[in-house]
Amino acid sequence: MSWLKRSKEGLKTPQRKRELPDGLWTKCEECGEILYQKELERNLWTCTKCSYHFRIPARTYVKILLDEGSFVERFSEVVSTDPLRFRDTKRYADRLKKAREETGLSEAILVGEGTIEGRPLVIGVMDFAFLGGSMASAAGERIARGILLSLEKRHPLVLLSSSGGARMFEGILSLMQMAKANALLARLSDAGVPYISIMTHPTTGGVTASFASVGDVILAEPRALIGFAGPRVIKQTINQELPEGFQTSEFLLAKGMIDRIVHRNELRKTLSWLLQFFAAAAMLPQKPRRRAGETLARFRAVGGPIAQTAAPPPKPPEEAPAPGVPLREFQPSATQGPNGVPAAPSGETPAEAPKETPGSTPGGSTAFPADREIPIRE
Ligand SMILES: [Zn+2]
Repeated sequence: MSWLKRSKEGLKTPQRKRELPDGLWTKCEECGEILYQKELERNLWTCTKCSYHFRIPARTYVKILLDEGSFVERFSEVVSTDPLRFRDTKRYADRLKKAREETGLSEAILVGEGTIEGRPLVIGVMDFAFLGGSMASAAGERIARGILLSLEKRHPLVLLSSSGGARMFEGILSLMQMAKANALLARLSDAGVPYISIMTHPTTGGVTASFASVGDVILAEPRALIGFAGPRVIKQTINQELPEGFQTSEFLLAKGMIDRIVHRNELRKTLSWLLQFFAAAAMLPQKPRRRAGETLARFRAVGGPIAQTAAPPPKPPEEAPAPGVPLREFQPSATQGPNGVPAAPSGETPAEAPKETPGSTPGGSTAFPADREIPIRE
């Protein structure tokens, strides 16, 4: 019998589970506890007995995390088309239409601006209910524009992932979004604007392999599946038993791949604390970052493994210092004061370390000071 042919007609594929349970009572998918709907809602759709985190829509996350009424959606006009005229069992165009009707979203990610306890940020939240939270050209473009907005306003960026990976219906156009997002995130990093990544269940495929894994701080919800290929695929491929808890948030935390596991009840508070921390850190005198090319040049100058294993490409003498010659320190740009501290407004002394106690909030805008030119990576 062919493995690829269905021998029996009329076999039904199981229906997808509802994203948000409705009715008076809901059974926990993890421990089987019967939960009162109102209680579940109060607990932000997490089980009161075992802490299982139910999957929730992007707009619900926005409601949970941001100050009430502060969210302004951006880039909703960027929507997927069907560039390949893709069709498998259904037309991609029909799948898109159905996903839009079911979720009330126009793409798998909702991007916008808002505040958390008064601190502005740019936020993107993926919605698994929209074609498995898959990243295609429009989702990637929204992320890219969100990063550029964050860069322009110097407001921290938060991206919350829930995705099966790149969307196959758009082929390479989906895959290239990975490189696009990460190239822009590198610019954001060079500019010193913080990026916080939150991984929820599940974060897999091209999303894990790109923007979700490169946050300055990476948070995850408890027991979320996080990985590239799923555990079943890996097990079948390598034909070995996988360690217990493989590809869960807890496993990744133990291996140092993520920074903290945060219960949904604590997510807003944690984000608020991080925004406050970064805002205070941005006020401290900072040594300007070296550009990627300079780091490599310094590495070669001290005779690192790259210099030993491969001959460096020929460069003009001033760009490629001979081994042993100390690399010239990065000079602050003209817009900076001494030590790379942003030039203070007239009448004020140069920025000093703020004397703040934990819990205090430096009032006003928390835009990160444009203390240096944004270097473009080589
Ligand atoms: Zn439970």
